[in-house]
Amino acid sequence: MPDEVPVIGQGTWMIGENGDRAGEIAALRAGIARGLTHIDTAEMYGSGLAETLIGEAIADIPRDDLFIVSKVLPSNASFEATVGACEQSLRRLRLDHLDVYLLHWRGRYPLAETFGAFEQLIKEGKIRAFGVSNFDIPDLEEARSLGTSSPIACNQVLYHLRERHIDAGLVDYCQQHHIAVVGYSPFGHGRASFPPLASAGGRVLAEIAARHRTTPRQIALAFLARATPLFAIPKASTLVHVEENAGALDVNLTANDIRRIDAAFPAHPRDELPAI
Ligand code: NAP
Repeated sequence: MPDEVPVIGQGTWMIGENGDRAGEIAALRAGIARGLTHIDTAEMYGSGLAETLIGEAIADIPRDDLFIVSKVLPSNASFEATVGACEQSLRRLRLDHLDVYLLHWRGRYPLAETFGAFEQLIKEGKIRAFGVSNFDIPDLEEARSLGTSSPIACNQVLYHLRERHIDAGLVDYCQQHHIAVVGYSPFGHGRASFPPLASAGGRVLAEIAARHRTTPRQIALAFLARATPLFAIPKASTLVHVEENAGALDVNLTANDIRRIDAAFPAHPRDELPAI
């Protein structure tokens, strides 16, 4: 990913569906104004409704001020359907190119076929780069072995304080191979998934937040995007939430803060997740 891409972005799963459309557009625009210019979407989200809403929200914003990522569904990942799906996403987003185009997760089409379409889209100027999502190390090994002319820009994977299995190997692997790790669902997806402040981990977040004069969620985001190659893409549909999330860009955790959060929310391999 280019150096100038902000490490905190904006997710868009479930926007443009049944919510307050004007409020969601205002939140997205406020986030962009506060520096959250990295927007993550997918053809899957609301079957195109999220991309359509984003297209409306960004219509008057200079293209070079934005970093827009979308994803092709595995069921559309044949050569022809990938090219067609990208063109549909561009139409809904009202853009002439995406910054990165991802395979949402692995499906029945050979990676070589999908990657061939990505390379064709790069040649045509419709995407600047391509990446993958929900890939483990063996998937990445296979993907890298295909020797595409453009590198795999990123791997988008689940990553939040209570689900840190990627810290047990995948992050190191990606760093070694210059693949950005974009952590999705940084708050655990649901409103109630963030560690409660009364829990031991919640108290650690609150103490660190108080010292930085910020909030536990900002501390969590700063931790999840604490170093290369990590990025985080929280989704927010209200101004209050997006303002809070944007504030995480200004948080500089100390090495001791990172050690304490790491100890409070330990990383476990996927098959040894703690029951918290
Ligand atoms: P998330 O970002 O972990 O959580 C979203 C929830 O947190 C929403 O209910 C939101 O509420 C709430 N929230 C956001 N900011 C908040 C704040 N400051 N204070 C309190 N609550 C706050 O969940 P997610 O949407 O699953 O993940 C983020 C993005 O990652 C998605 O939108 C999508 O772009 C991407 N993603 C990718 C994949 C993949 O397979 N590649 C899978 C899942 C997600 P409001 O909406 O009311 O503001």
